[in-house]
Amino acid sequence: MYDVIVIGAGPAGMTAALYASRSNLSVVMIERGAPGGQMNNTAEVENYPGFESILGPELSDKMYNGSLKFGVKHEYGIISQLKDCGEYKEVYADDKVFQGKVVIIATGCEHRKLGVKGEEEFAGRGVSYCAVCDGAFFRNKKLFVVGGGDSAVEEATYLTQFASEVVIIHRRNELRAQKIIQDRAFANEKISFMWDSVVEEIIGDEMKVTGAKIRNVKTGEIQEQATDGFFIYVGLDPLTAPFSTNSLTNEEGWIPTNELMQTNIAGVYAVGDVREKKLRQITTAVGDGSIAGQEAFNFIESKQ
Ligand code: FAD
Ligand code: NAP
Repeated sequence: MYDVIVIGAGPAGMTAALYASRSNLSVVMIERGAPGGQMNNTAEVENYPGFESILGPELSDKMYNGSLKFGVKHEYGIISQLKDCGEYKEVYADDKVFQGKVVIIATGCEHRKLGVKGEEEFAGRGVSYCAVCDGAFFRNKKLFVVGGGDSAVEEATYLTQFASEVVIIHRRNELRAQKIIQDRAFANEKISFMWDSVVEEIIGDEMKVTGAKIRNVKTGEIQEQATDGFFIYVGLDPLTAPFSTNSLTNEEGWIPTNELMQTNIAGVYAVGDVREKKLRQITTAVGDGSIAGQEAFNFIESKQ
């Protein structure tokens, strides 16, 4: 039996694992993909203290190496279920069962789909959710970016190093993104905006995306516009399906905690983006992780 099971190796999970293991607890950190979480899909991070600017994947590597320093065991696995057995918990991953005194949920969230015709059909053939992964395929091409938050506007700016033209399609006439991110996009000659507009359908030929039907929400007019690709950034959904039977989540699927990251199950903590919270950032994920890692130690001590 482990002292602590950490589910997810994004910045929140890696920090929780680091803090718990540095308190001499035995820790397993289970991840279904590459450690780093959403940081792997981020071009440049310039609001993580200590680095003027760093590429997301590079920050992931640094955090990952640091998180293993005090003996954390990293296991690959897709967690499907959590069982509260009172004094200990069981976590189910594929064909394995892990037992631990404490569980720290750090599963984060994933990009939301637009839900329009053509989106699924052309995924990977012109429709993408990751500029860092796919941007370079669009050298000298015209791109549409959908959304008005930090992700859409920041990644649109990143894409201008490849694309000839980037059009941000937003459903309102005002962006949600932070002011500094907006200002950079407004100053970028390659970026233009299609305000009050939503994508009705993504269209293409047998090979790839060729355009879209776009509706103006004020006039109701639908226009067909040509494009070579779509980058969709319309928000995030929590990755909490494995915990749906644990009554841990609110109506929208996020996990409420108190300021010690405790959930409504004793010995189960939630950290990072998966929590019900206002500011979803690397810094806040790391802050949550450190608190839960330390609290795991206090919880186990209190039982002895
Ligand atoms: P995540 O990073 O989402 O990590 C969760 C991990 O859990 C993932 O690795 C996932 O694979 C794993 N996981 C999920 N479910 C399971 C399961 N069932 N079994 C096993 N493993 C599982 N923040 C900033 O501060 N600065 C930025 O510049 C910035 N840019 C961003 C750009 C983009 C495009 C996006 C999408 C986000 C950006 N953010 C930025 C936000 C930041 O990346 C997140 O706030 C942060 O990564 C959250 O960390 P986390 O550890 O809580 O979750
Ligand atoms: P977000 O802040 O939720 O923004 C989603 C955007 O998509 C909004 O502009 C929203 O429009 C629009 N939208 C939602 N559903 C839509 C639909 N069905 N059709 C069309 N448009 C739709 O999500 P995000 O930008 O991915 O950011 C997620 C989190 O990561 C935030 O906490 C953000 O601060 C953080 N992040 C931080 C950085 C950074 O610090 N540099 C970078 C990226 C992300 P409305 O505005 O009308 O609601």
